[in-house]
Amino acid sequence: MTDLPLDRWIKPEVLAQPAYEVKTTDCRIKLNQNESPGDWPRDLKAEVLKRLEEAAWNRYPRLIPQRLKEKLANGLSVLSEQVVVGKGSNEVLQALAHVSLRPADTLCTLSPTFAVYRLVGEQQQALVSTSPLTADFQVNEEDLLARSKGARLTILCNPNSPTGSLMPMELIDRVARQAPGLVVVDEAYVDFSGVSALPLLEQYPNLIISRTFSKAFALAGFRLGYTIMHPQLARQVQKGLLPFNIDTPSVLAAEVLLDHPEVVRERASLIIRERDRLIARLGDLPGVTVWPSQANFFLLATPLGARKTFTYLAQEGILVRDLSNYPGCEKVVRVTVGTTEENEALCQAVRASL
Ligand code: PMP
Repeated sequence: MTDLPLDRWIKPEVLAQPAYEVKTTDCRIKLNQNESPGDWPRDLKAEVLKRLEEAAWNRYPRLIPQRLKEKLANGLSVLSEQVVVGKGSNEVLQALAHVSLRPADTLCTLSPTFAVYRLVGEQQQALVSTSPLTADFQVNEEDLLARSKGARLTILCNPNSPTGSLMPMELIDRVARQAPGLVVVDEAYVDFSGVSALPLLEQYPNLIISRTFSKAFALAGFRLGYTIMHPQLARQVQKGLLPFNIDTPSVLAAEVLLDHPEVVRERASLIIRERDRLIARLGDLPGVTVWPSQANFFLLATPLGARKTFTYLAQEGILVRDLSNYPGCEKVVRVTVGTTEENEALCQAVRASL
């Protein structure tokens, strides 16, 4: 096939970007995408299906899912006008970049961190300024403060992915206070850390909190995320999303789950217990390094190195994330905490690999 003259039609920033990829092979145990290991309880699924059956499929959903926004706002003690809902938090992050970044503006973030921040920034022709984490994956505070001072948009992931490390709240406070631009705190994993920047919202009108239904809420198969910010800002960010972005099934499912917060709470506590147990057990193995984590995943290095650990575990039917192409992560894989049985299988496989 002849090469198309793509540079005539596609922006250079897009051509230069590698496509977002997730290495997948069919494995019995899936510990590579920080999903919840357990599907929804049957009775809650049945409730969603019942409501979906009663809904009119031929009609558009509400332009804005107001009832869902109110449920979210009530749970967080904020106003519904502060909530912007997207098809996954990815979509709201994209909208944020879209409405705020002009060509040659600076987007500040950490390195390594969630790859989507760079992706959405570069597509707006922004310059991406990354603050490198230290060798043990902690934030270099002065470097981050200096970079965020020159940024129109700063995105911080807390706890950070892929490292699982948690930034001190005092640092987020300082960044939000000193940065002239918007500061987004992506709290996709907040249910596993219990630490949120939400109380800072009242103080800092440039602060935005991002959350998702894809992790502790076990709803990655439907796409739903949201952000919380000043109402005036929310009105503008909403313009960056296309009309009718949220489909009826996602709204119905989220509403059912928000009526059963105990399900999410109990499962998150189980994951936290399993995470701490796994980190302790794997860390005791000779030659194995495991980093502390406040999320539902953690970094693991074995004497095999990242690629071979990935391949070995895949052969044993366990899929993890090979991070060898992430800066500072050349030797590590990222492992999502699974069910007790899955975690047991992981421990045995890692032990056998040594
Ligand atoms: N933020 C972080 C830190 C994530 O790890 C992910 C999912 N991998 C997302 C956002 C995207 O979540 P969603 O499914 O809500 O788009």
